[in-house]
Amino acid sequence: MMKADLLVKGCSELHTLSGGKKPRMGKEMMDTGLIKNGAFVVKNGEILDVGKEDRILKEYEAAEIIDASGKLVVPGFVDPHTHLVFSGSREDELVMKIQGKTYMEILNAGGGILRTVRKTREASKDQLKYEMKKRMDVMLAHGTTTAEAKSGYGLDLDNEMKCLEVIREIDHPLELVPTYMGAHALPPEFDDHSKYIDYCCDTVLPAVADVAEFCDVFCEKGVFDAGDSKRLLVKAAELGLGIKVHADEIENIGCTTMAAELGAISCEHLVKSSSGDIEAMAKNSVIGILLPGTPFMLMDDHYSPAREMIDHGMAIALATDLNPNCWTESMQMIITLACLQMKMMPEEALTASTFNAARAIGRADIGSIEPGKKADFLILGIPNLMHLPYHFGVNLVDMVFKEGVLQ
Ligand SMILES: [Zn+2]
Repeated sequence: MMKADLLVKGCSELHTLSGGKKPRMGKEMMDTGLIKNGAFVVKNGEILDVGKEDRILKEYEAAEIIDASGKLVVPGFVDPHTHLVFSGSREDELVMKIQGKTYMEILNAGGGILRTVRKTREASKDQLKYEMKKRMDVMLAHGTTTAEAKSGYGLDLDNEMKCLEVIREIDHPLELVPTYMGAHALPPEFDDHSKYIDYCCDTVLPAVADVAEFCDVFCEKGVFDAGDSKRLLVKAAELGLGIKVHADEIENIGCTTMAAELGAISCEHLVKSSSGDIEAMAKNSVIGILLPGTPFMLMDDHYSPAREMIDHGMAIALATDLNPNCWTESMQMIITLACLQMKMMPEEALTASTFNAARAIGRADIGSIEPGKKADFLILGIPNLMHLPYHFGVNLVDMVFKEGVLQ
């Protein structure tokens, strides 16, 4: 008998997501590596072996055994798009939205992003960590074991650096991947988008390149145009950062195809993407990160064309977009919205929330339950995957393991 630290047995449905390194594209997203009556063993925080329960029980003994009979077991959720570092809240703007004001009207009235910028600039690092930790505790409890975190409420050099350092420094089992998103809004001290992009390129990017892994830009009508966005992303790539874009959220201004051709790892939002954009993303193996929580909170009926994207062979990931305008920590909620509003199948939504989400933030060692991967996994109190979108609005996760440790 071989020795392991932990053995999980009796899993009613064990979705391993095992197999391959590349993101699952198109029809491949239905393949979740399902093992019925599955079991697996963990050693030193990594998956040692996985398979049918009969074989695993014959071959291994473990210091600790968990019986997951009647339960669903999946990799830990990866949330590849959050704006986790911010201070304050904007619940009154939800009331304005209920009354019919648009996102852009709220922004132009001094609300929206710039209001959070003011609060975030005023906040100390300790204050930001205090507010972030509460969100991260909720994320972890709802099954998110790794998340991307974007800066973008500091905007100037000192405040962007402060936010990125907070992401690096915070002591929490939930692992964070930092993205610099200074080009999130035009700061009040600038009156020209192009000049602000010059400032980001010349002053901020060189300083944050060692702290962040990715650079993202809000490419949108009235925010940053495709030309300025491209300038920033080219500079970021020169400095060794991976590139991402917020594109086609409200209007299509040609950013998605530009970013796909530049070698972006992901394009995000993609509500108004054209067939040409979808082809460009599929052809360049760009992962589309879809954020159905955002139109839901905007009370907008337009969701990303996930079915068309999958039919054209694109790889899709799902994320919360956690920010003061779309405040949910729960990938379970996002999976429900993805299935109901974008007609994704439960298997596709799971792939998009684990394996593909990990690839969308450049992580190859998480997102699946297979030998050599980090033992990040969830035990849910439901007997099969179909319950995940079906039984909504509550936390279905019984146990969260991060690198083999129960949280
Ligand atoms: Zn976002």
